[in-house]
Amino acid sequence: MSIFSRPFLGIGKRIRQALLPQDCFLCQAASGEQLLCAACERELPSRASACPRCALAGSNNAQCGACLADPPHYDASRAAFVYAYPVDALIQALKYGGQLALAGFFAQKLHQRIGEASGVDLIAPLPLHSLRLAERGFNQAAEIAKILSRLCGIAMDAQLAQRVRNTAAQTALPWRERAANMRGAFGCERDLAGLSIAVVDDVMTTGATLNEFARTLKQSGAARVENWVVARTPPGV
Ligand SMILES: [Zn+2]
Ligand SMILES: [Zn+2]
Repeated sequence: MSIFSRPFLGIGKRIRQALLPQDCFLCQAASGEQLLCAACERELPSRASACPRCALAGSNNAQCGACLADPPHYDASRAAFVYAYPVDALIQALKYGGQLALAGFFAQKLHQRIGEASGVDLIAPLPLHSLRLAERGFNQAAEIAKILSRLCGIAMDAQLAQRVRNTAAQTALPWRERAANMRGAFGCERDLAGLSIAVVDDVMTTGATLNEFARTLKQSGAARVENWVVARTPPGV
């Protein structure tokens, strides 16, 4: 049976059991030192060909029509996975279940996807507002970025910019209102002249938040901004 046909229910139990390193996080089969067994890992949804700018579906890795018609502030986006079951459940387990072991897994998969990240000067996690950070106790993007920074050998700077406005949760808003909701959400006091920055986040949904962040970094002089995300949501979800 494919892991995709298994019901979502029961994932909480599997999450609790995932601390045992020999059990696959998803199916509980023996997985050695790995978080997922080889069979589950092979079935994680990813995209063979994507638009290099927004990481949505694209043929022959060429820029999609939407990016050509209305170029975003970021220059590139790389996503390890498509945001669909069971990647969505894994991300929620990290974010809301505090399963920090998943940050290492995601960092590893992102690193494999990115390969040689030549030309990137700095890795920056997408900042959480301080109130949200206090509530959750950690920033999942920073947890992933920290490990990714070690794997890539590129310095991480979590203080590059701040979230100055505690915006309404994007998930509560229709897609078309998300860009307006994000406007002015970040502040950056630093001089980033000429720097090439990779922004790390868990999920890229409409791209409105990452686009506003890229706009902020470029206003401070950044020459290039790319997004490194664990998962990209297909349009209309
Ligand atoms: Zn498995
Ligand atoms: Zn695109």
